[in-house]
Amino acid sequence: MRKFAVIAVIAGCLPTFAWGPEGHSLVARIADAQLTPAARARVAAILGPDTTMASISSWADEVRRSRANTAPWHYIDIPIDKPHLDMARDCPKGDCVIAKIEDFRKALNDAAIAPAERREDLMFLIHFIGDMHQPLHCSDNKDKGGNDVHVEFFGRRTNLHSVWDSGLLGRMGTEDQLFGPLSTESARRARKWSKGTVEDWAEQAHKAAQKMVYGRLPKVAAGAPVPIDAAYEKRADPLIRQQIEKAGARLAVVLNATLR
Ligand SMILES: [Zn+2]
Repeated sequence: MRKFAVIAVIAGCLPTFAWGPEGHSLVARIADAQLTPAARARVAAILGPDTTMASISSWADEVRRSRANTAPWHYIDIPIDKPHLDMARDCPKGDCVIAKIEDFRKALNDAAIAPAERREDLMFLIHFIGDMHQPLHCSDNKDKGGNDVHVEFFGRRTNLHSVWDSGLLGRMGTEDQLFGPLSTESARRARKWSKGTVEDWAEQAHKAAQKMVYGRLPKVAAGAPVPIDAAYEKRADPLIRQQIEKAGARLAVVLNATLR
């Protein structure tokens, strides 16, 4: 029993890595359905046989531990009390998710890059456009993007970041149940959502964190776990759905413009 308790404690402390596999797979499937024939052919050629965008959409999380230098690439810490993104302040070393999306996008058309490396570049790009739409990957309240905020989530002790990665999404239905409606809505609004730059998209996610993720958090005594209840969930779910719909549409827009 003791062994299990120790494992549980360690697992509870580990930082989590943005949309869980379900969220990333949804983003990739939604994007795949919006690719042009030319972009779809190039994606297939780069990824190789028996591989789909969905099947590699969480690869970047799987290699995160063995490639420590890639860990900061999954997020950007825009302070929650600041109104805007400031790349000099929030990404001084150029190793945040916003800078990396641009690096990997450019690399896809760099003739000097070998096929195996290009394949990794595409796998990173697919993952990171998903990640940046998780509001806590574009925000920080001196709490490691919500990893340090202890919450009580329907009888389970976890942290705020994990709840936004996968806890709330996991209660919305299975991936296959969600895919149809999210994909339809994403395609319907893709033109509107594709406007702006990657920085603009990050600012939108940051605003969502200010207003909803932290703004609606119940106030509790210092040190007590924050209850994530049905009222919070009711407000959070539409935002999560829309962030996944946006991520899918924008991933398609980026790939369609880059892989012609
Ligand atoms: Zn990630």
